[in-house]
Amino acid sequence: MRNRRLQHTLTPVVPRPAVFIDRDGTLTEEVGYVNHPSRLRLLPRSARAVRRLNDAGIPAVLVTNQAGIARGYFSAEVLDAVTRELVAQLKDGGAHLDGIYVCPHHPSAGAPPYRMECGCRKPKPGLLERAAGDLALDLKGSVMVGDKPSDLDAAARAGARGVLVLTGYGRGEWEYRRTVFPVAPDHVAEDLLDAVEWALRGLGR
Ligand SMILES: [Mg+2]
Ligand SMILES: [Zn+2]
Repeated sequence: MRNRRLQHTLTPVVPRPAVFIDRDGTLTEEVGYVNHPSRLRLLPRSARAVRRLNDAGIPAVLVTNQAGIARGYFSAEVLDAVTRELVAQLKDGGAHLDGIYVCPHHPSAGAPPYRMECGCRKPKPGLLERAAGDLALDLKGSVMVGDKPSDLDAAARAGARGVLVLTGYGRGEWEYRRTVFPVAPDHVAEDLLDAVEWALRGLGR
């Protein structure tokens, strides 16, 4: 036991690339605030996309802003129930997430402790950085997939590449607002599965 611990301590951990995935509009349908598990629906090819990452041995890490908590639209307990529903729907599709990171904050709405100027609300890179620390991830080799410019911005600030999906808000953002994006996408994909295929090609998988 002692030796194993020592071995573990001395073996350098080589950071691995990951694919970070936004929730609403990217992994699941954009339906506004998901204030009940019954409102959560995976997009059609999402389980397949996550399964591709699982099969390739690439960590699939959810990073999501849920300011509805700070705003008082739903509680942390409801978010937990929604997350359990998400995990169950993915499991039905033979897929799993390797990490789930949520920002429940808002800089001005609601009350403390959730009303705060945090470092984790995308476009800030805090969620990605926390995941990288916890899971020993190589951010520079990683890809963040999302349907909003703030996802691309968070990717860039974390040193990762950013893919815009055309699901959720993505198509409207790309067609009508791309000239005002703070950060251009490294790739535009039809949906999460296409984004994952692009990421895996870049990783040589
Ligand atoms: Mg989104
Ligand atoms: Zn936060």
